Amino acid sequence: MPHVLVLNASYEPLGVVTMRRALILVLNHKAVSLEDSGITLHSATSALPAPSVVRLTRFVRVPFCGPVPLTRRALFARDHGRCVYCGAAATSVDHVIPRSRGGQHRWDNVVAACRRCNHTKADRHLTELGWRMKRQPAPPSGLAWRIIGTGIKDPRWRPYLEPYGANDQFREYEHHDHPEYAGSHPLPLGRAHGVHSAPVHGAGTRPAPVRRGEQPESLSA
Ligand SMILES: [Zn+2]
Repeated sequence: MPHVLVLNASYEPLGVVTMRRALILVLNHKAVSLEDSGITLHSATSALPAPSVVRLTRFVRVPFCGPVPLTRRALFARDHGRCVYCGAAATSVDHVIPRSRGGQHRWDNVVAACRRCNHTKADRHLTELGWRMKRQPAPPSGLAWRIIGTGIKDPRWRPYLEPYGANDQFREYEHHDHPEYAGSHPLPLGRAHGVHSAPVHGAGTRPAPVRRGEQPESLSA
């Protein structure tokens, strides 16, 4: 079942939740739906359009959460799933200055690369190969990365995320289109990153916590 983007009352992107959780927020008047998902959920007595984007009705203060965590998924999102050297589909993570030569595992030294370039490059510097990058790698910034970093995408979220640092990441709907992404579907809201659970808990709602592996269930109003 699709996930739902949660925006603060100020429209800042906060996180993603399961559709079931988003519906609980809306039914409890903790959030309003801004975009429909096109999915209708049926209970015994009624049918409800399920949201794709909701906005909290009350502003939630979210603590500063520091830099975007460097994960494979976030790195591939930053580099648009493409090898920074040749533009082919990326399959691996490359350290621009090889680790064996003192390169660090940091946003400004890691890039997405295809297997071939990674293999060819091995533990050499770019200057030794005569290779160039179109742009220097840098840490991503912007609140949209709270969402992008989860790897969950929906093209309907794009207009809400672009003002907060998303650019090409939402241009097309590529939901785990890479074979290496298979099986790495992110957990429901907020197990790995505390910030992702902030909107729901901070909103003063106490819906049943979403547990790892819990399946969304049909709405019983
Ligand atoms: Zn390549």
